[in-house]
Amino acid sequence: VKIILLISIFLSISSYAQGIKSDYKPGEIKKLCAKYIKDAKVGFDAIAKVKPADRTFATTTLPYENIGADLSDQLAPLLFMMHVSTDKKVRTESTNCQNVVSDFSVETSTRRDLYNAMKDVVGKTPEEKRLQFRTVQGFEESGLKLDDKKLKEVKKVQKALAKIQTEFRKNLNDSKSEFTATDEELKGIRPDSIANLKNDAKGLRIVPVNEGTYFDIMNSADNAKTREKMISAFMNRAAKLNTVLVQRSIVFRQDLAKLLGYKTWFDYKTEPRMAKNSETVRKFLTELKEKLAAANKRDMDQLLAFKKKMDPTATKLNQEDLLYLDFQMKKQDYKVDGNLVREYFPADVVIQGMFDVYSQILGVNYVEVPKAAVWSNGVKLYEVRDKKDSRLIGYFYTDFFPREGKYDHAAAFQLYKGRLLKDGKYEPPVSAIVANLSPPTEGKLSLLSHKDVETMFHEFGHIMHDVLTTAPYNSLSGTSTTRDFVEAPSQMLENWVFESEVLEKISGHYQDHSKKLPKDLLKKMLAARDFQQGRFYIRQLTFGFYDYNIHTESGPIDATKTYDDVFRELTGIDQVANAHFPATFGHMMDNYDGGYYGYLWSKVYAQDMFTVFQKEGVLSPKVGARYRNNILAPGDMEDADELLKKFLGREPNNKAFFKYLHI
Ligand SMILES: [Zn+2]
Repeated sequence: VKIILLISIFLSISSYAQGIKSDYKPGEIKKLCAKYIKDAKVGFDAIAKVKPADRTFATTTLPYENIGADLSDQLAPLLFMMHVSTDKKVRTESTNCQNVVSDFSVETSTRRDLYNAMKDVVGKTPEEKRLQFRTVQGFEESGLKLDDKKLKEVKKVQKALAKIQTEFRKNLNDSKSEFTATDEELKGIRPDSIANLKNDAKGLRIVPVNEGTYFDIMNSADNAKTREKMISAFMNRAAKLNTVLVQRSIVFRQDLAKLLGYKTWFDYKTEPRMAKNSETVRKFLTELKEKLAAANKRDMDQLLAFKKKMDPTATKLNQEDLLYLDFQMKKQDYKVDGNLVREYFPADVVIQGMFDVYSQILGVNYVEVPKAAVWSNGVKLYEVRDKKDSRLIGYFYTDFFPREGKYDHAAAFQLYKGRLLKDGKYEPPVSAIVANLSPPTEGKLSLLSHKDVETMFHEFGHIMHDVLTTAPYNSLSGTSTTRDFVEAPSQMLENWVFESEVLEKISGHYQDHSKKLPKDLLKKMLAARDFQQGRFYIRQLTFGFYDYNIHTESGPIDATKTYDDVFRELTGIDQVANAHFPATFGHMMDNYDGGYYGYLWSKVYAQDMFTVFQKEGVLSPKVGARYRNNILAPGDMEDADELLKKFLGREPNNKAFFKYLHI
């Protein structure tokens, strides 16, 4: 075991010196994927063979963790490629590798010999005890309390489930949906975003269906038919294939929950988290629903009244009206013109400003690595160094603009996770922030919406959680914390983009960067921030209840109908006909299943933590250091409740959250 460990640690040290490898040739990923897994299996076998009398933390739990960590470092670049590689063959090989890895991790986490070995060990220090506890808990979540027959069944279903989740994502990434429209049908949309569109042979504009074009059209296209067309196209990407996959996965999850001895999949997923069971979540969502009902009705009435002003014959709201009326009303009644706001947020100003802000709060510097090897033009690699002593802490990549075949949302990817190596050195974490910001058009810079800026602050919050970890173990490092807490730090940081001190740093008119976002515009934006907030949170609740419903009911489920019903019940209006929202809702197929409530749940803690910064200053390095040490650094080394108590200096509560919602 020791020899294998040394070799693989040596390999990972040499590989992370300058970020990750990304120049894979066809065939390479397949070969490496198989080799790494084979090596890890040899290591695991050796641990299982340690005699019961010799089982200690050092001979059993730690080597198990370390082999897993080495494997995670080796596989991370291979698996990341499916989201970002410019080569379709490489993306496909990466997806295939993911399938092999999923199978292997099911195999490993259901090995009785390993479980028996781990169970015998007693950790000595609090750190050892934590890893010991989470490791055994992991095996038990995989079904190791069951007899062999049932365990075999669990394995089979887990593997099938993992495979269709990967297929789902691939179908969405590969979907190249588009429609054509006349200039008249696109009236209202920003000229620079129309300039990005190609023409077909008949001179019609070709509108590719992606997040960027979706919001452009939903916010600004004056023609309701065009907006309806966009919803339908957006919610029909990979619809046939993916609806089937979603529904199959729900049934698989029901089977698994039953096999594992839980009433529902939701109960199974929530047990190791802050919420502990589905009933707590049901109460949480229901309370919010009741409290938000009046706010939602007020917001919907407000939109309808505005629609009637534009069109006196209007009698009701349609789905395609919501974003449009919201956007137009902000412009007219609140005098917040989203397109004018954009002019103050050129991408390069926002990015540099965001780095400055985080740097000041967290006590670190960001330095671009010159000529770093990257997977596509425009991707950059940065070093993170401690301000105190210039010590290298970690790295992150930025990949901000869309391209074909690339991951279609904004996200933070954990590549190398921080951990203590055998030689006592700390492995520098490497993460990547991937987004799809409006690309620069000819002669004009990329201008971000305020929403984009907020998303950037959110995702970069995750990056810092990963990079500033000091957790000794890979599996408990950075954002590897419970799912209903992990969004708290990044949601807290969304508040920053409404703070005037921060806007001084992150805004600057594209024609003259010294012209910051005007104070009166910010004042209007702040007033507009509360506008339609009830409706916004009802939307979050719609996703939360959809997730809750599909994962607490039994028998085959019509996912589309379930979603449409929840949508109607909560918003009071119907979905666009023939839309298949569940087919495009990646969160139910990337381990947020049974976990969407976590966004709302952790928002409670996000707003509670924010009160500390509000009191002492959103750019306060003092509070920032406390936040870095008590919330970011520990990862999952302690329960989230404990971390919160340390940072807040008291028990957490929901006062700030309800105040934020005005309820
Ligand atoms: Zn997030």
